Amino acid sequence: MRFVIALMRHETNTFSPLPTPLSSFCRGTGGNDGPVYGEAAIRATENTNSAAAAFMDLVREQGDEFVMPLLANSVPSGVVTRDAFEHMALTIVSAVRDGCDAVLLDLHGAMVADGYPDAEGELLRRIRAVAPAVPIAVALDFHANFSATLIENATAIAGYCTYPHIDVYETGARAARTLMAALRGEVAPVLLWRRLPMLTHMLRQTPREQPMKDIMDRAMAAEAKGEVLNASVFGGFPLADIPHVGLSVVIVADARHRAAGEALLDELCGMAWDRRADFIFPLEPMETSIAHAKTLDAGPIVLVDHGDNCGAGGPTDEMSVLAEVLRQGLEDVVAGPFWDPQAVAQLVEAGEGADVTVAVGGKTDMPALGLKGQPLTLTGRVWRITDGNYRVTGPMFTGMQLSLGRTAVLDIGGGVRVFVCEKPQEPFDAGLFTHAGIDLDRTRYILIKSRQHFRAGFEPIARHIVLVAGPGVCSSDYADFPFRHLSRPIYPLEPDMTLD
Ligand SMILES: [Zn+2]
Repeated sequence: MRFVIALMRHETNTFSPLPTPLSSFCRGTGGNDGPVYGEAAIRATENTNSAAAAFMDLVREQGDEFVMPLLANSVPSGVVTRDAFEHMALTIVSAVRDGCDAVLLDLHGAMVADGYPDAEGELLRRIRAVAPAVPIAVALDFHANFSATLIENATAIAGYCTYPHIDVYETGARAARTLMAALRGEVAPVLLWRRLPMLTHMLRQTPREQPMKDIMDRAMAAEAKGEVLNASVFGGFPLADIPHVGLSVVIVADARHRAAGEALLDELCGMAWDRRADFIFPLEPMETSIAHAKTLDAGPIVLVDHGDNCGAGGPTDEMSVLAEVLRQGLEDVVAGPFWDPQAVAQLVEAGEGADVTVAVGGKTDMPALGLKGQPLTLTGRVWRITDGNYRVTGPMFTGMQLSLGRTAVLDIGGGVRVFVCEKPQEPFDAGLFTHAGIDLDRTRYILIKSRQHFRAGFEPIARHIVLVAGPGVCSSDYADFPFRHLSRPIYPLEPDMTLD
């Protein structure tokens, strides 16, 4: 048999001011300036913690063939350009049209392209149009938002059970195993699903803790015991002004045991809705959080600015939290990486050891939220310049080769070192600091922009973790966002709403 395996991943924050062109889809390609194709895509995917790597292993194990037309993975950002989406979709659809027995897709599920608010649904619809009878298995991020189009055109769907996402390979294997069983005629998959009108807070979504833990545990137990073929719970991605946002449950049942699947769907959705108030994250002013961090005994103390996280589409150049850290006089701090190619160019030109004054960050306005960029002027010595390349050694996306672009570290006194980079990258792996020679274990404060994924690489070394609500397009205060296209009513924007 011949399989088509493809990876197209983007989480779109429609409030982000940064559009996403094709060149952004270069993550994990080892420094390429866009997606990679064919043999290059296979080489870059092998031995990584990705769903596509699991697809390749399973197909090879059963002695079949595959092609990989596309590896296109981007850091989250704003709406994907129409050109980029058309190119990626055409690349995948063409490979399917050339003939195959099944399609295995490694997608995100929260991609919004210009003209296509449901980009993954549109991709599936186009594949189905050229290959009406070919089974399609899809592995999706825990933050996927579901439309009927995506569901109706898929044969099997599995989502990550973890956040931080460390079970990406296993998710691919779960989806592919169901598809392989269907190809052998052992099962007849039926997709059952529901999207609840809930905007959950991402800081309250992780299945490692309540309220999600019991719900995800029940789903995983049902799948492990064979009650259903796959059971997935998706937290959803709320920073998207599109109709189909919400917490979703997707069950793949065998047609012979459809009733069990329907009962499980009711059970999981009931649990999530009953716990809706527990999915709200209570906010604290950033000044209070930083003052609290100052009272803590020993480091490393990880300060997590979750308002401007490139892992959820933030530009990563909002400087308010660092400004407050300096105002309150915290010492022995590693901060960043802040995205500012212009400042990097200045620092690289000055060279290691040079004394400089430079305006860092604040180059991006965020008109959707009425925020204007405010650079922070820093004076210090250029401590180090690197090429920004590191290979992930932590549990999330293990083995992936990532790049910050050219990176400069500015020492501004008081033991404060500020990382400035050319390409934003969420700190889910310590390599983005250690590649420059930073010893994090001996650092008192580590100020990063993240929300949950930092836990993969930084929780093991952190003595304390302090969440800091900086301003930005990843704010946890949904009153900040001018939603216009969202399906209403939705909880908690309509706090007293009921389900029909
Ligand atoms: Zn995610």
